[in-house]
Amino acid sequence: MGKFKPYRAEQLMMFPNSIKDYVGEGHLARVVDAVVERLDTADIEEKYSELGQNTYHPKILVKLLFYGYALGERSGRMIARRIETDTAYIYLAQMYQPDFRTINDFRKNHLKELSGYFVEIVRLSQELGLVKVGQINIDGTKIKADAANRLTKDKEGYQEWLKKTEANIQEILAQADQRDAVEDQMYGDQRGDELPEEINTQEKLKKRLEEVIQRFQDEPAASPLGGKERINFTDADARFMKGGNGKIDANYNCQIAVDGNQMIVASEVITQANDRGALKLMVEASEKTLREPVREVAADSGYSSYENYEYLSKSQKVGYVPDQRLMKVRSREYGPYHEENFRYDERNDCYICPEDEKLIRYKERRQDSSYRQWRQVIYRGRTCSECVSKPLCTQQPQRTLARDDRRTLVDQMRKRLLSKEGREKYLQRLYTAEPVFGHLKHILGYRRFLLRTLRKVQGEFRLMCIGHNLKKIHRWWVLAT
Ligand code: SF4
Repeated sequence: MGKFKPYRAEQLMMFPNSIKDYVGEGHLARVVDAVVERLDTADIEEKYSELGQNTYHPKILVKLLFYGYALGERSGRMIARRIETDTAYIYLAQMYQPDFRTINDFRKNHLKELSGYFVEIVRLSQELGLVKVGQINIDGTKIKADAANRLTKDKEGYQEWLKKTEANIQEILAQADQRDAVEDQMYGDQRGDELPEEINTQEKLKKRLEEVIQRFQDEPAASPLGGKERINFTDADARFMKGGNGKIDANYNCQIAVDGNQMIVASEVITQANDRGALKLMVEASEKTLREPVREVAADSGYSSYENYEYLSKSQKVGYVPDQRLMKVRSREYGPYHEENFRYDERNDCYICPEDEKLIRYKERRQDSSYRQWRQVIYRGRTCSECVSKPLCTQQPQRTLARDDRRTLVDQMRKRLLSKEGREKYLQRLYTAEPVFGHLKHILGYRRFLLRTLRKVQGEFRLMCIGHNLKKIHRWWVLAT
């Protein structure tokens, strides 16, 4: 018997008999293949004409993109390289070899349809029993825009840049005039009316600068940092926000709602740094996708606001959303005379201060603008002037406290969160929503978008979420078989 297996570099049949033999039954590529086969891709197919050269079937390119996004391999070039060497890609590509431009163009031209398959895949998971409807856990993270920070400026910055560009154009034109005069002398009546090449670029730059400056007027979007509004030149939709690393960059705020199995049931991208405005959006997006009401919602304190508590209460959803002060109250970080240490006596509608004195209803104030509505009752101490602790409590003649008429909702939320069940429900988001972003950003490396502008970034984020969900379906399938 020989020492080695037969040496078969020259063997003619190098490949398996069927393309399916390239990957095992339990491979992720098999799941991607099966899921995409179930998708209705007629919307993309209809865009192709019967005339002209045959092209790759859209399902093939959808499979390649979904599989790539599931693995963190999202650039057209990388996918095209894998198609030459990786058996799973070869299987999904059905042994065709679309080049990187074909893949990139397909993503660019059909991004809307591709991101629309997110809903179909979630519903498919729902049919399979993978999605636990009931509680959703919401979380957000900042992902960097494809934009250089140094090209983010305020309106004055752009006006200055525009001025310089216009001066450049004038200079180039003046040089061209001089050159024309010399050439006229030398060559007489020959054509000399072509614009110099540089002016073309400068004119394009000028046009783009004018567009960006116009955006300051058309879409006033105050800087989340309270400073001047700033817009990035390369991706004017991105906003300067503080990321998880504490750095302020041109970012997008990416939001997800996940179920108890870490399936993403809703994904959105917003341009506000603050998460508060996203709670209602994510609940409604989840309900639209799942076609069922969400009963319980867990999110971190970044989502707490009177408006959100009111929304949850009115829509009869049980919230597990701590307010920003709860942690400090729990760890007794507030001084003894902080308003959190004044007890509200509901029956008598008054506050009891740390010295056991009453603060009674004094007056009301309200705001009723289209942007914001609130009503507060002001409570005022009666005996503060005689109190020995007054220097520690207030510098005013009497201590006052403002109570929003929705404050009861905060107290109810705290009570719920501090119960055994509430703690467990809130903890669920720690091991469902947060690991999803951990996986997307740190394992798959999605810390920066490849595409620009909000619409395209939303599409790309959906592709990331589709990739994640396909992996979840794969895991379920492996466990089930
Ligand atoms: S100053 Fe007024 S509110 Fe403050 S502790 Fe004294 S009595 Fe109470």
